[in-house]
Parts: sequence; structure tokens; C-alpha cells
Amino acid sequence: MAPLIDRFGRSFPYLRLSLIEACNFRCSYCLPDGYQGCGSQGLLRLDEIRRLLAGFACAGLQKLRLTGGEPTLRRDLLDIIALAAATPGLQRLAMTTNGCLLEKRVADWRAAGLSAINVSLDSLDGERFRQITGHDRHASLLRGIDRALELDFQAVKLNAVLLRGRNDDELPAWQDFLRERPLSVRFIELMRTGDNEDYFARHHLRAERLEAQLQQAGWQLQPRGPSDGPAREYAHPNFRGRIGVIAPYSKDFCAGCNRLRVTSKGDLRLCLFGEFGIPLRPLLQDDADLDTLVGRLTGQLALKQAGHGLHQGQTGLTPHLASIGG
Ligand code: SAM
Ligand code: SF4
Repeated sequence: MAPLIDRFGRSFPYLRLSLIEACNFRCSYCLPDGYQGCGSQGLLRLDEIRRLLAGFACAGLQKLRLTGGEPTLRRDLLDIIALAAATPGLQRLAMTTNGCLLEKRVADWRAAGLSAINVSLDSLDGERFRQITGHDRHASLLRGIDRALELDFQAVKLNAVLLRGRNDDELPAWQDFLRERPLSVRFIELMRTGDNEDYFARHHLRAERLEAQLQQAGWQLQPRGPSDGPAREYAHPNFRGRIGVIAPYSKDFCAGCNRLRVTSKGDLRLCLFGEFGIPLRPLLQDDADLDTLVGRLTGQLALKQAGHGLHQGQTGLTPHLASIGG
């Protein structure tokens, strides 16, 4: 298995595969009017996903994340998890979910082979959560998270998008939450996408003030491992949980990029904010195309740029993160 390496020396053992663009939430920064497209038409089928993963396995895949849209809306999700868990060489099979089915289904996902889970939870306050996501499921999400912690996952992580004036005063509540829970919350700086320009102007907040508060409260920045993602992770001896900060506008963010993306219809995307997709679907129809598929993955990587154009306001093809698998 030859690992994928680009012309800047970065390697790509990590694939984020979107299973569906549709979503049942209306997060104010992502799909404020709800999902408007035509649902589940034309999504990659199970046999296509199997061939795709076989190709990535030949290119050194170690970590796979299932995402969306909302991946748990796929009726065949358990089959997809079981199939993905059998990928040769895979060390971690993760999924990012808004948690709508977490409480009911997390044990089934774990039993099918899911080894890590990220749940989006933008606020610890139920009413704020409802205002941000358009859904009143906060209590169920919290129960689902505690259920997940009983299931021996390699990692349970929470994602919270930092929003000026909406959830930027919750560090004390998060600290209470993390005192006894062995999970990691990731505060993600809001990213500007094609559709959220005004919202971004009103609510984007750099994570610097949060990091200063963490350091004042005795949280310590952890050394980065060679295969770690872009989060800067903090730990504290009095807390079982950890806090990560993901700051896509920071200087070296793209230097640590280790991931590729494939959309729910089978386009390879070299960057979350790239200008083009590379169709892989024609090579997913026949097992005999495996070598050609691996060749296309390797060849396309030569086109990957050093960094995104977000600082210049370039959001590429991405109207919202649901469209590509954020
Ligand atoms: N629907 C699932 C969920 O919300 O967890 C998976 C897809 S969602 C696009 C993946 C993650 O991207 C979520 O944690 C969400 O909060 C985050 N996200 C969406 N839009 C974003 C934006 N503009 N900036 C930063 N994070 C964003
Ligand atoms: Fe749906 Fe996730 Fe986007 Fe929220 S962030 S609207 S849950 S895809």
C-alpha cells in the first residue's frame, strides 16, 4: 500500500466520505432554511462505496469518517458501517452526526463496527441549542452522549462552532460538563461559505480569546502527534475531558492537512474550499477498475494546493458544509 503524498510532502491517510447531502436540522450557519435539494437521489450505492474504499485502502487509508449532510438519515447506514469497518488497514472508523438518532441508535452503530463518534453540540443550553439548530432535541442528545460513553468507543468528541453573541460565554458550563466525562469538545471557528456571508460577518469569532481563557484557567496545550489533525488540544489535571480548538484561519492550518473528501455522489474534493471536484464514480462500476482508480487518486493529488483561499474570501465550490461533508 503506497501512501498518498502531495508535492508539499503532506500524506493523506484520512478520508471524509459524505453519505448524503440532505439534513433534517437547520443550523443557522449551515442550512438556515433547511435542506433544499432532492434528498437521496443519485447517492453512492453500497457496491460503489465498497470499490471506493478498496481504492483508498490501496492508497494507504488509515482513518475514515462518515459524514454529510446528516449521515444517519441513510437507511442503509448499518450496512455501510459494517462494510467500511472491514476495509483492510483501517485503524479508525468515525462518524460525525447532529445526534438526532444518537440516543436510539448509537449502540447499533457501535456493534456494526463504528469505532469513534463526533456529535455536534453547539450549546449546553437547551434553548440556545434550539435557536441555533432549529430542533428541540437537546435533552435526547445529552442522554445519547452519555450512552456513547458507555460503549467503549476509541473516541467520543463533540463539535461546537464558536459563534459571537450566541455561545461564546459557555466555557464555565463546558468545564463542569468535562470534569467527569472522558470526551473531547472541539471549538471550531465559523468558516465562511458561499451562502453564509452575512452570518459570518455577524458571528465569526477568532478562538484566541478562548485559548487565553483556557490557559489562565490552567489548561495546558498538548504536544501534537505526527498523525494528529488540525485541532490544538488542551488538557487539565482536574478534568477527565479535553478541549480542542480548530482555527481554520490560523497561519499553519493547511500545513497539517492530512485529509481528502469524497462527496455523496462520488466526486473527489482535494480541499474543503477547492474550486473543482474530480468524478470517481465512473471508476466505481467494476472491480476491474481498481488500478485505474488508484492511479486517478495518486495523479489528482499533484493538483492539491498548499492552502485554501479563505483569507481572500474564496469559498470555492462550497455553498455550505452540508454539500461536501464538513
Ligand atoms: N450533520 C452532521 C453534523 O452536523 O454533525 C455532519 C455534517 S456537518 C457539515 C459537520 C460539522 O461541520 C458540524 O460539526 C458542523 O457544526 C460543522 N459546520 C457546518 N458548517 C460550518 C461552518 N460554516 N463553519 C464551521 N463549522 C461548520
Ligand atoms: Fe445539518 Fe450538520 Fe449542517 Fe447542521 S451542520 S444543518 S446538522 S449538515
